[in-house]
Amino acid sequence: MSKQNRTAIEPTRDQNYAEWYQQVIKAADMAENSDVRGCMVIKPWGYAIWENIQRALDIKFRETGHRNAYFPIFIPKSYFEKESEHVEGFAKECAVVTHSRLEDDASGGLKVAGELTEPLIVRPTSETIIGASFARWVNSYRDLPLLINQWANIVRWEMRTRLFLRTSEFLWQEGHTAHESFEEAMEESRKMLDVYADFAKDYLAIPVIKGEKTESERFPGAVNTFCIEAMMQDKKALQSGTSHFLGQNFAKASGIKFQNREGEIEYAWTSSWGVSTRLIGALIMAHSDDNGLVLPPKIAPSHLAVIPIYRNEEEKAHVLDYCKKVTDLFERTEWEGIRIYTEMDERDLTGSERNWYWIKKGIPLRIEIGPRDIASGSVMVARRDKDPREKQSVQLENLKDYCLSTLSEIQDIYYQRALAFREKNTVKIDSKDEFYAFYTAKNKNKPEIHGGFAHSHWCGDPACEEQIKADLKVTIRCIPFDKEIEEGHCIVCGKPSHERVIFAKSY
Ligand SMILES: [Zn+2]
Repeated sequence: MSKQNRTAIEPTRDQNYAEWYQQVIKAADMAENSDVRGCMVIKPWGYAIWENIQRALDIKFRETGHRNAYFPIFIPKSYFEKESEHVEGFAKECAVVTHSRLEDDASGGLKVAGELTEPLIVRPTSETIIGASFARWVNSYRDLPLLINQWANIVRWEMRTRLFLRTSEFLWQEGHTAHESFEEAMEESRKMLDVYADFAKDYLAIPVIKGEKTESERFPGAVNTFCIEAMMQDKKALQSGTSHFLGQNFAKASGIKFQNREGEIEYAWTSSWGVSTRLIGALIMAHSDDNGLVLPPKIAPSHLAVIPIYRNEEEKAHVLDYCKKVTDLFERTEWEGIRIYTEMDERDLTGSERNWYWIKKGIPLRIEIGPRDIASGSVMVARRDKDPREKQSVQLENLKDYCLSTLSEIQDIYYQRALAFREKNTVKIDSKDEFYAFYTAKNKNKPEIHGGFAHSHWCGDPACEEQIKADLKVTIRCIPFDKEIEEGHCIVCGKPSHERVIFAKSY
């Protein structure tokens, strides 16, 4: 029997991945379902992760010249209708406000009243409402580029929801920019994809593949949609961020015109890009284990939990005093640009209960302090990336350095582990039979078990893409930027192909 035969999370990833995911969120106390179907309550531990995502990304947006602004949550229906592909793409998941007040009805209840002359759509994305402002703000090439970001909530009426991954209301940021030329708008869409990819790697410790979506997976109304795709521990892909080159489609729909350097009036070139609270779902599924949440230190709400251990009141005063010295060590400490936060856990629970509480929350380091440690001028440090029972004695004078360098080490270990997992589960496949076998469950009771990412040739025909989707629920995640031009044959129809694309099951 393995040395650890009981895990904090049941079921384990192997037993039931979907249920394991829900249990990790519950055990870490990150979020819960609300009484409003499909909408979540994000609790402090989950929200702090979102705030850390915001903080890090916001600095990058600012560094790349963007400014934050805020636009209305309601979009007049007529705005939406201006871009036909756009309205078609979102029509099936719109929440629509049609009335403005409640009135007493005859039976003592309330009825909706005050029908609006024009229905308002609760924003599923803001291209059209922001476009209306851009049309007013942009007159000349001197007003360009216009580089705006909005942090907001979004509503997309989803039928099947899952905390963080797919909810009817979610939080996100959406960048919207307008430019003088095709080249500049294209450069912007690619640049922001790089920002997302770097952020995923450096902060979330998630390796991602950058690429372009096929036509069928494109954002409604976009000319090109670029994406970053990550592999989760069940080998499915999760689209973790997108950036769209919108050409002049939305500028035409919203009337964003400017006088160019030659004195002629032309339409601006626009882009939009976004990431959402879905990233928290990616974070959970990329790193967490059967003992709960695993958090890369750079995104963790807190970094160290201090757990005092004592048997009586006399010991308690002495131990708490020493613990204070430990937390003081990290007061206003910065590590790699991140403020270090400590949690002092003196709740009336056993040491083991408090330890497991923090393991399940994914805190990177736990520091246990008892009378014996104090006598030797040391503390016991445990790492979330190691076996829960493994502890290391560290002298107080070395503690700060030890903890900070260990945080860097843990951050790197999580990234390397996720990268190795993706490499191990990525293959080149050239035969159709092999491809179908790769994505067909070996065990009928576990349909979720499948191969991973396949790099295979595709001729470019949407019909081939559609067939794979219908047969295997596998989609083309992206046409990767980083690829070799290589002659081959489409995995579906066998016609000539010039490049491999990335196939996977996905969220
Ligand atoms: Zn084909």
